[in-house]
Amino acid sequence: MSESIPKTQTVALVRTLGGAVEFVDDYPVPTLGNNEVLAKVLYTGVCQSDLHTKCGTAAGHDGTPITNIKLPHVGGHEGVGRIISIGPNCGEGIKLGGLVGIRFLSRVCRRCEFCLAGNEQYCIKSTNHLHHEDGSFQEYIALDADNLTILPDDIDPKLIGPVLCAGVTAYKAVLNANFKVGEWVVVVGAGGGLGHLAVQYARARGASVIAVDSGKDKREYLLSVGAKEFVDFALVPDVIQGVHKITNGGASAVIVAAGNPKAFAHAAEMLRVGGTLSCIGIPPGRPFLETPISTIVIKGLKITGNLIGSLKECMEAVELTRRGIVMPKVQVRPFRELTAVYELLERGDIPGRIVLQVAQDA
Ligand SMILES: [Zn+2]
Ligand SMILES: [Zn+2]
Repeated sequence: MSESIPKTQTVALVRTLGGAVEFVDDYPVPTLGNNEVLAKVLYTGVCQSDLHTKCGTAAGHDGTPITNIKLPHVGGHEGVGRIISIGPNCGEGIKLGGLVGIRFLSRVCRRCEFCLAGNEQYCIKSTNHLHHEDGSFQEYIALDADNLTILPDDIDPKLIGPVLCAGVTAYKAVLNANFKVGEWVVVVGAGGGLGHLAVQYARARGASVIAVDSGKDKREYLLSVGAKEFVDFALVPDVIQGVHKITNGGASAVIVAAGNPKAFAHAAEMLRVGGTLSCIGIPPGRPFLETPISTIVIKGLKITGNLIGSLKECMEAVELTRRGIVMPKVQVRPFRELTAVYELLERGDIPGRIVLQVAQDA
């Protein structure tokens, strides 16, 4: 064992849904069960679904709030940690001191039809770090060795957290957007946590990207990471027409990374015949996609939803960042600023992603 393991630790605790975040310093450090490793959490991103979950407003597949959430709740599912202890029967290939990711999915069954098909994000028996198990808003975490996200040694732990949820989700939305090299792809909400990554993945796969967002800073930044055009929704009288003008008849795909339900309906109108609407992010409440069925049928549109991705797709996304092709824009803040970060997220005010530094690397 490379370092001593304390009995208690600091965690960001939420006692009741809708309640405040409290920093508690005497929370027990998990003891390892069979086939588990203990990781010290170095950095963690803060995701919109952490905010919705702790507020009790996170929506499930039928649009009603998810209420079956472990309390007290410890969120966080974009973490990077270092393995400091290996429990019994973990098998080979896991090394002390190695870096691991803390993702949304904590455990999967490996037997259901979705696991067998390599779509384990839909596993019918899965558990996750948002609703069932304590996540990366704690200094020490126990992880299932069979579902371990083993990271390369030469990644930057500050950058990889956001790849593990926002990144793989945006990557999956780009894979499902179904476009060819050179075709126009619109990213709506391009400056946010999901959007700025979707712009870069789409660019990396050969799209001509139109970024839709607002403000001079976002414009400069998004053009610098590969967007070909920027449409400022606050300045342009009609965004849909703006897109049609640039694309001469509509985009091949529109990826919506904005939390506003209106953005989804507008997006369908930006598509050309045969285009794909690729939805990511889940707006709170139970909003509907208001697109006339006639539009979908007559234009032959495809609609795709994207819920994270598989571990394999996650590792592909990690590799693109390791090689400097897709770079998350991160701002590192101390762990105890989580509440302030939630306030910024609520206002939709964060360019890129905020990453919290949780524990000191030894
Ligand atoms: Zn997330
Ligand atoms: Zn399964």
